[in-house]
Amino acid sequence: VRLADIRTIGQAFQSGVLKAAAKQRHAPNAACLDQISLFQGDITGLQVDSIVNAANRSLLGGGGVDGAIHAAAGPELYEECKGLGGCETGESKITAAYKLPSKHIIHTVGPVYSRGDVETRAQQLESCYRTSLNLAIENSLKHIAFPSISTGIYGYPIEAATHIALDLVRRFCDSDVGSKLDRVIFVVWSNKDKEVYETLIPEYFPCP
Ligand code: ADP
Repeated sequence: VRLADIRTIGQAFQSGVLKAAAKQRHAPNAACLDQISLFQGDITGLQVDSIVNAANRSLLGGGGVDGAIHAAAGPELYEECKGLGGCETGESKITAAYKLPSKHIIHTVGPVYSRGDVETRAQQLESCYRTSLNLAIENSLKHIAFPSISTGIYGYPIEAATHIALDLVRRFCDSDVGSKLDRVIFVVWSNKDKEVYETLIPEYFPCP
């Protein structure tokens, strides 16, 4: 799937897919609306500068989106990951994407919901988004596609996780370096997750 075929949330508002929210958590910012997309489908098929992998601390592959990315990228990804020495929760590391149509994979390790206190888990999840975005900027990448980190096998409730993701990305878009990214794509797999994002996006990215 090419970037040109993924509509921005500005276009989603125009076509009526996204409706204005009663509650606005950030002021409208027209520039942001062209920087964000919501895409439902397989993240491994995206032809963009970087996709994010919801990895585990070993970085050696696992289930869910991690398994899908390793399977699609091929064994060379595993070989590169072996040299990275793992990754702490809330941190991110970048690799090549091998057989994937994207250019890079940013591996981030989300918190396991059943471990630690509420505040620490929230900070770790937020840190996944922040460190991934920073890696994209440091590597001059123009696009980054995020799966819904920690909300699968790691058990983070989708609503709470989506608030964290949208708030951090919105603040990033408003920051000085935010304009260096052309597109941030939120990738959802299930219909339920898509509904949560469609409900909450207008609260963080209101239509002016
Ligand atoms: P975690 O261990 O961080 O919870 P999971 O891979 O179990 O990670 O789930 C994270 C999210 O990724 C879930 O919403 C899951 O449905 C979704 N997902 C699984 N496979 C894919 C895929 N190929 N593309 C995009 N999202 C996916």
